[in-house]
Amino acid sequence: MQNYREAARLDALHQLKLLDTPPSAHFDRITRMAAQIFGLPVAAVSLTDRDRQWFKSRVGIDHCSIPREKAPCAEVAELRGVVVIEDFATHPCYADSLLAHNGTRFYAGAPLVTSDGYGLGALCVLGTEPRVATADELAALGDLAAMVMAQIELQHAFGRIDPISGLPTRAQFRDDLADLARDHPGQSRIAVVADLARDDQIAKIVGVVGAGRLDEMVREASRAIQGALGADRTAYHVGTTQFAFFSPPDIDVQAYVDVLEQGFAAIRATSSARFVTSVAIGLRPFRLGEVSPEDVLRGAASAAQDARRNDGAIAVYSPARDSEMRRRYDLLQDFGAALEAGDQLRLVYQPRVDLGSGRCVGAETLLRWRHPALGEVSPAEFIPIIEQTALARPVTQWVLEHALDQLAAWQPAGLNLTLSINISAANLMETDLIQRIQLALLARQLRAEQLEIELTESAMMAQPEKALAMLRELSAAGIALAIDDFGTGHSSLAYLQQVPAHVVKIDQAFVRELSGAWGADYVLVETMVGLIHKLGRRVVVEGVETEAAATLLAGMGCEEAQGYWFARPLEPGAFVEWIAARKALAA
Ligand code: C2E
Ligand code: MG
Ligand code: MG
Repeated sequence: MQNYREAARLDALHQLKLLDTPPSAHFDRITRMAAQIFGLPVAAVSLTDRDRQWFKSRVGIDHCSIPREKAPCAEVAELRGVVVIEDFATHPCYADSLLAHNGTRFYAGAPLVTSDGYGLGALCVLGTEPRVATADELAALGDLAAMVMAQIELQHAFGRIDPISGLPTRAQFRDDLADLARDHPGQSRIAVVADLARDDQIAKIVGVVGAGRLDEMVREASRAIQGALGADRTAYHVGTTQFAFFSPPDIDVQAYVDVLEQGFAAIRATSSARFVTSVAIGLRPFRLGEVSPEDVLRGAASAAQDARRNDGAIAVYSPARDSEMRRRYDLLQDFGAALEAGDQLRLVYQPRVDLGSGRCVGAETLLRWRHPALGEVSPAEFIPIIEQTALARPVTQWVLEHALDQLAAWQPAGLNLTLSINISAANLMETDLIQRIQLALLARQLRAEQLEIELTESAMMAQPEKALAMLRELSAAGIALAIDDFGTGHSSLAYLQQVPAHVVKIDQAFVRELSGAWGADYVLVETMVGLIHKLGRRVVVEGVETEAAATLLAGMGCEEAQGYWFARPLEPGAFVEWIAARKALAA
């Protein structure tokens, strides 16, 4: 029994991962205070290892450890009580100890006891003269020992217990999974990630009722999930509103899906946030030891995202979807390097043609990325990924600078064009966006009218009020605006009427299947054109691939068109040649 207790004690000590770590100011401060209170030169935080006393903190001692045998701190740890030795010279047990040999005469030690009752060691003071310890001194030593313990437990819990939910964190999930795999290799389990709310729901809660409400919601959910799991299973808090746990061993996936559906329906029924949030749950079946803890968690989280995207409540991990997610992740990781590399990104230019005169009046700047390993990656793939991150700003800045460099380089050749660039929703929240644009124009002695900004309807609707304010400022600065991909978003007419855009670009989806007059698409496009004109804006039609479409659109009164029928997006050299050839044709 004694041995078992000592083994458990050592285990508790080792789990704290405190032994042989560097000194820390937090502990040293307490140790110095102990020495001062007793007016003694030597004090230490001394931890009782298998056969040594190791000093986490020490004052007036040169070595970092002494043998455990005949060390009074070991007695303190074993007793979990205060030990005072008034004079080593006359002490029956310690008179021949190492400390006594080195001239120690006085010792007082208060125990360091964990919240589950293990004695880890002692906070001790030592003197070279015999003396007594007063009750006040011992009380103070006890208080300081408690402070040491609080510090130890705080350090250990740091990063392992989430301060809001009180649940173990992602780091603990990883460690526990590694332990499980060691104990039960090959056993089949299912990792579950439950995501409580969509990003926009979180933003709304924080924006409308404040972050405190979100914390409250997280606490409520953590209690409910932990309650449903029962005392012998653990819920982990792995993301702001994400919780994870493991299934019992060897359980059928479909059967477990049913269990979870019922469990979460019950939790939801009593949740105070049920009307403002929607839960998405991901399952990742795996065998212990065969998948890394990081991949287990990522797999379950990716399944939860899948569930969210498909508007379902539950999804099981799919390797194909995972490789898609991994590609997204890789692209995001690599794009930062691409911005700096200099040879991965380039711009191409797609002519915009006036349907009345057939003249090229401008061009849309489109970004191209040649990834060193993956080859050409389409902006339709990488822009949606990066524009939701901090990269939205540098990418737009890169495009702005390079597009204006090109425009300035074309000026002397008499190429007088308006270039449009695409920006992202996030750019509208950058308070210095307008200054950056103005500065970039000024540096190249270009006029504001030579630049047009394209922004999609859905980008505006992300934060309609803020977007409107920023777009008004842009317009006031003389920079033209085009509403891109019109017809694919959900803006209201009342809103569009307020947007100071000169141009509305009808999305290519409507044009692709534009059939002869009076087809359903024809009527739709014609109605859109009429509407845009009523709002007083120019119509640009995207994705014109055939002469027939160009003719139909011209007949409807569309001002401009852009599409493969006229030209694909062109490299700068090819763009200049295209313009020259077209002029020659017209001449
Ligand atoms: P977008 O702004 O609507 O650009 C038009 C897209 O349609 C371009 O695709 C263009 O190559 C393509 N296109 C043009 N004519 C035709 C046609 O006749 N038929 C067909 N099928 N397609 C045509 P791209 O270059 O792949 O760009 C896709 C989207 O990526 C763009 O759509 C834009 O939203 C975004 N994007 C591209 N460059 C940038 C950029 O520099 N910044 C930002 N924020 N987004 C960009
Ligand atoms: Mg565009
Ligand atoms: Mg478009």
